[in-house]
Order: sequence, then structure tokens, then C-alpha cells
Amino acid sequence: MLRLGIMGGTFDPIHYGHLVAAEMARTEFALNQVLFVPTGLSPHKKQRRMTDAQIRYHMVEMAIRDNPQFIISSIELERRGPSYTVDTLKELQQIYLQHELFFITGTDALREIFDWHKAEEILTLTRFIAATRPGYGAQEFLTKMALEYPQFMKKIHVLEVPALAISSTDIRSRLAKGQPIRYLLPDEVYNYIQATSPYPSYSQ
Ligand code: NAP
Repeated sequence: MLRLGIMGGTFDPIHYGHLVAAEMARTEFALNQVLFVPTGLSPHKKQRRMTDAQIRYHMVEMAIRDNPQFIISSIELERRGPSYTVDTLKELQQIYLQHELFFITGTDALREIFDWHKAEEILTLTRFIAATRPGYGAQEFLTKMALEYPQFMKKIHVLEVPALAISSTDIRSRLAKGQPIRYLLPDEVYNYIQATSPYPSYSQ
């Protein structure tokens, strides 16, 4: 069986932390490919104004272009309504028939899985790689997981990624304050942001 990593995230914008996390997951879990899936309409983000999905998608496309093992899917941009992970996984399962799925995302995002739409079904469809920032342990999440879904504990893997000290929130906040963001993300994405200013009036 082949192994597919599914890198789910808002990527607003994508940065080196995401890319390092994807590459670490690929090598540590012997993934054949990592499929980046930028969210369309995040169900939990109705309040914050997100950058247009096409722009976030385009930035991801630019960032992964030079890695043949990184690919991208517009599956969540094409779907109407909120981007529920359960729907994404079911669709991908039909496309990648001979693959075991590994959903890679931030531990901070995964902490909320207990409130995600059809959480239990999601846990039957995929294994999870929880990418964690240094200093932000996953222990609390794992304890809750062991209490609520002990049968799925074997499907959760924690991956500490030092480069995740970089965050999209920090990048947006730096842009709002006119602080430098160069070297936090790939040059192509940096140049695109400089040229098009997709974050003109960001406020947290
Ligand atoms: P988020 O709330 O924007 O992010 C939470 C934290 O996780 C942030 O610190 C973020 O860092 C980090 N993070 C997000 N994606 C990451 C990735 N792929 N690798 C490493 N760190 C990552 O979370 P989100 O991006 O909206 O959601 C993450 C995934 O969970 C998406 O695929 C989303 O669709 C899914 N999700 C599904 C449901 C549902 O089905 N109901 C609900 C919530 C989330 P940065 O800000 O630096 O990225």
C-alpha cells in the first residue's frame, strides 16, 4: 500500500514551518507524496476575515513547486459550503484508492477535533500527524484523546517541528506593523506578497 500525507491548513500565508513539517512527516512516516489541501471556507473561522482562498492556494502552489513529492489539491475550494475534513477525506479516499492516508496538521488545530464535524468517522478514515511547535507539548491533547477516543490512540502521531516557531499569525501581524517577513517564507511567496499586498489592512 502507498502512503499519502494530506497537509490540511488555511495557509494564510504558507511559510517555512509548514514546508519543514511536511518534509519531516514525509521522511519520518515514509510517505510517498504529500498533498497540500488549502481550506476553502473554514467552519471554525467565520469571524476572522481570511485571505481569498484562490490567493492562499496560489501561494501554496508557488511554495511547493520545486518539490516533486509535494502536490496540491483544490478539492476544498471547489466544494460549496464549509470545508469539513470528513468530506475531504472521503473524496480523497475515492481518488487515492491504494493509499493509506495520514492527515498532517497543527496540534493546535487538532486539539479542537472533539468539536469537528463527524470526528469519530474522521478517525476511521485516516491516521493523524500532529505537528507541534517547540515548547507547546501535545500532552493535554493526548490525555483528552485517550479519554474520549481510546480506540483511536494508535492513529495519532506527534511530530515536533522546530521550524514551526514561524506562524502565519505572526507573519500577518508583522505585515500589519510593517515589520520584515523575509526569510520566514519562500522567496517566491515573499515577492508575491510584496507585489500584490494581499494583507493590506490585517488586524488580529
Ligand atoms: P488554524 O486554526 O488556522 O491553526 C491552528 C494552529 O495549527 C496554528 O498554530 C497553525 O499555524 C497550525 N497549523 C495549521 N495547519 C497546519 C499544518 N498543516 N501544519 C502545521 N501547522 C499547522 O487551523 P486551520 O489551518 O484552520 O485548520 C487545520 C486543518 O484542520 C484544516 O485542514 C481544516 O480544514 C481542518 N479543520 C477541520 C474542521 C472540521 O472538519 N470541522 C474544523 C477545524 C479545522 P499557522 O497559523 O502557522 O498555520
